[in-house]
Amino acid sequence: MASALLIVDVQRDFLPGGALAVPDGTRVIEPLLALAATASLVVASRDTHPAEHSSFSAQGGSWPEHCVVGSDGAELEPRIAAIADLVVCKGTALDRDAYSAFDGTGLTAMLQARAITTVLIGGLATDYCVRASALDALAAGFEVRVDPATVAAVDVAPGDGLRALGELAAAGAIVGPQLADSRTGCGRPTPRLTADVACLSPAPAGGRQVLLVRRAREPHAGSLALPGGFVEPTESAAQAGARELGEETGLAVDAEALVELGSFSAPGRDPRGWIVSIAFLALLDEPVPPTAGDDAAAADWYPLAGLEPLAFDHDEILARALAYRP
Ligand SMILES: [Zn+2]
Repeated sequence: MASALLIVDVQRDFLPGGALAVPDGTRVIEPLLALAATASLVVASRDTHPAEHSSFSAQGGSWPEHCVVGSDGAELEPRIAAIADLVVCKGTALDRDAYSAFDGTGLTAMLQARAITTVLIGGLATDYCVRASALDALAAGFEVRVDPATVAAVDVAPGDGLRALGELAAAGAIVGPQLADSRTGCGRPTPRLTADVACLSPAPAGGRQVLLVRRAREPHAGSLALPGGFVEPTESAAQAGARELGEETGLAVDAEALVELGSFSAPGRDPRGWIVSIAFLALLDEPVPPTAGDDAAAADWYPLAGLEPLAFDHDEILARALAYRP
């Protein structure tokens, strides 16, 4: 199983001082250099536009002029250039933009020709070109891993970067630290992902009921919560949701049967740090009796009326689950 590291657009124009700088973009460089040592192939993508490219605001596009072919801003950051085995250029056509490093570059075929099965993806920016590249890599059938320490976001709307990581995890990417001593750059915490499952079934008295656990551990020991827990580096968020549901309630639900409800990252939702929940919905035809286990002191079905407040931001997740219409 050969793996490649794809470093997306770590170019002068996307770093502080550049024409379209990603705030905090420099922090990705050290973790990317460390990760490169674990990969059998290092690919760097370059955003490379002709002058008067359609993505530039002067041409009616969304971005200031950046990464014009031949300009200093289009150059790769020197340390990244030094470790790249292969460089692909994207966005080279005048009349169309390309966020993904796989878009029009032939990268899929190049990786397949080298028997690459896993692609580690990092670089700039989480919410645009990293996101698009990772979604394309998944669609092409690669195992995709994203270490949050190796990406930084534009965050046009606050939380865009986190939402993109949640989206990638829900799409099947493995999002989490990929190095034992994962470095986080400028002391910024690396988010950890949890998977939480809102499991609903018809209630005996009519209406619906929800499967909840009484937490055995801090934080929020003694409170009711949705079953859930941390996503391991070897599994997708859906796999983690199904596993945690099984461990905490004894219910066996296929990861494929879980419906993704989105990601939740309320500031301060968890005293253990910066934690992003990928929430899932499981719809059961009948209330299978649960058995508490793992860090759940009790597990039971609860009517929706008169519920006590749930731990973390699980009330919000439950509300999203109840509003879900297939
Ligand atoms: Zn561009």
